Amino acid sequence: MLNFALCSTRVLARNARQSRKASCPATQVRNERHFLGNAVSSRRARALARSATMVVDEPAVETEVDPGKVKGTDLRVLRYPHPLLRAPNAIVEVEEFTDELKRIAKEMLLVMYASRGVGLAAPQVGVNKRLMVFNPDGESKAFLKEVVMVNPSIVGKSKKTTVEPEGCLSFPGMNGNVRRHEWVKVEATRLNGKKFKVRYEGWIARIFQHEYDHLQGTLYPDKLESAEDEEKVKDRLAELVEDYRQNPYEGMEPAL
Ligand SMILES: [Zn+2]
Repeated sequence: MLNFALCSTRVLARNARQSRKASCPATQVRNERHFLGNAVSSRRARALARSATMVVDEPAVETEVDPGKVKGTDLRVLRYPHPLLRAPNAIVEVEEFTDELKRIAKEMLLVMYASRGVGLAAPQVGVNKRLMVFNPDGESKAFLKEVVMVNPSIVGKSKKTTVEPEGCLSFPGMNGNVRRHEWVKVEATRLNGKKFKVRYEGWIARIFQHEYDHLQGTLYPDKLESAEDEEKVKDRLAELVEDYRQNPYEGMEPAL
């Protein structure tokens, strides 16, 4: 179902990893900047740089976009530790496959593109339903690669796993390494109510697993690969919690 074009993506990913490995933290940023400035490396660079799923190391660079109010929707991306990011996400019932569901999905895509993201899960915009959208290209003009999934479930997965850095618009200004299955088999329902099965691998499998985790109330910092990764984001997480406390949602405690 999906036209992966993963060869180039993988090459770019490998290049990105090599440049990270080859350099000290200070030069990583410069390399990433250079990487970001290289139009040829667009897909993976975009992904690393500014997605709802993936952002680069340093928040100060052109890494992520908080679009604020997005034209055509009132949906906004919620930031950790907003309680709705940890709330249960309900199965979308048969009678809920309505124009309203289509509207939400469409507006999620608007927010995702405005955020320069490649994926967004409904709880990230305060809708606690099992709904996600993604586009591995992260561009609205590549709309043929848009995927909207309702009630997705993982029915198979590889033993093989890979570790890559991830970020999340609900966690602006940080990233960390996360281990994911190399491939997953998924069953889901389309907006028209039709069920489908698909197998994703590599980059798109990672996007899917990240968004699927959101539907489980799991956030990527919950599963950072190493203590070093955890240490790296500790201060930023504390800042986000502090920000939340300044403006709590309905007076609720932060959901850590
Ligand atoms: Zn996320």
